Amino acid sequence: MAGASLAAALAPKMRVLILEGEDYPGYHATGRSAAFWTETYGGPAVQPLTSVSGPFLAAPPSAVAEQGFLSPRGALMVGQAEQLGLADDFMAAFAPSGVDLKRVTGDHLSAGLPGIRPDWVVGIVEASNADIDVAALHQAYLRVARRADAHLALRAPVTRLMRGRTGWTLHAGNATYQAQRVVNAAGAWATPVARLAGARDIPIEPKLRTMVQARLSRPIDPGLPLVIDLAGRFYFKPEGTYRVWISPHDEAPTPPCDAAPEKEAVAQAMARFAEVVDWPVAAVERSWAGLRSFSPDRAPVFGEDPDCPGFYWCAGQGGAGIQTAPAISALLSALILEEPAALPYRAIDLAAYAPSRFG
Ligand SMILES: Cc1cc2nc3c(=O)[nH]c(=O)nc-3n(C[C@H](O)[C@H](O)[C@H](O)COP(=O)(O)OP(=O)(O)OC[C@H]3O[C@@H](n4cnc5c(N)ncnc54)[C@H](O)[C@@H]3O)c2cc1C
Repeated sequence: MAGASLAAALAPKMRVLILEGEDYPGYHATGRSAAFWTETYGGPAVQPLTSVSGPFLAAPPSAVAEQGFLSPRGALMVGQAEQLGLADDFMAAFAPSGVDLKRVTGDHLSAGLPGIRPDWVVGIVEASNADIDVAALHQAYLRVARRADAHLALRAPVTRLMRGRTGWTLHAGNATYQAQRVVNAAGAWATPVARLAGARDIPIEPKLRTMVQARLSRPIDPGLPLVIDLAGRFYFKPEGTYRVWISPHDEAPTPPCDAAPEKEAVAQAMARFAEVVDWPVAAVERSWAGLRSFSPDRAPVFGEDPDCPGFYWCAGQGGAGIQTAPAISALLSALILEEPAALPYRAIDLAAYAPSRFG
């Protein structure tokens, strides 16, 4: 998503080559997401990027797509009695953001989530939450890039990056390329790719996230909210009338790899889900895992490397790389093109995301 969205923004103004190591783009994190747009997800440091991306995702320019990528759902953060303080902290942390949040208890909580067990006593409704059609968004970005003559090279893992007086020489797959600028949008591999270039050693740490698709033996309203634990132990959302996607909100650090789900994490997802609602599960249909990659302060890293001119970072999007892609690609493309960013994005504080914040 990072590479495709940036290529779409840059290709009308410069020659762009996307180098993808796998057989097809989206094989790693992008193709494995939970596909939601939640303004508070990722915390106050990520929220401005998510919020400002919303209008683009809801109603993209006609040159990008004929219809929007969002389907309204709504989110509900839930907590037990011990989490009442967390609910207060959550409301306070987002009070300056303008995100529409409402605290609910009692009947209002059980009306929002039929079947919720009685020991869940507090909820925060985030009405703006929506599902994202991730595949459509990704394909739209790739289409815009291709139309503007960007070239996508597949099975082209970058193995060498050398900076000379006139620019960069890259070895990828069986080919050698020359470029004026290089963008590191390598997801879980961002740190090893930066090392190839001799760039600043920013540790972007991949963490495993597991998803489970369960079939229910009773129908549910498919429009029920995305339910997120205030204590960060799970989230789940309906996927049609008889299915739910559940995550145990795991974050095991791992080397960059083709991630696969662990049995324990699947069992944990199912156990935590059963603690929240009385929705009987008929079967676990499938599970998958992907890597969410974080910088040391858990905010994305984008901008030019302070030690390595012509080398740009676009990494560390954590669990929000889909929902923030419009903002990050708009802001980073403006930096690369040395232009002011488009109006809605201009208010974003770039220093909060600059690679130079890591010494
Ligand atoms: C289970 C899960 C649920 C998630 N849910 C959400 C969600 O609901 N909403 C949201 O906004 N985000 C979500 N995310 C996060 C989101 O998926 C990521 O932030 C986003 O996909 C990152 O995009 P990316 O392009 O940086 O990484 P990737 O999609 O991993 O792309 C990086 C690409 O770089 C390629 N690459 C690596 N090294 C090289 C090399 N040396 N040469 C050439 N190519 C290379 C890889 O093959 C890969 O295709 C979720 C993630 C997971 C795992």
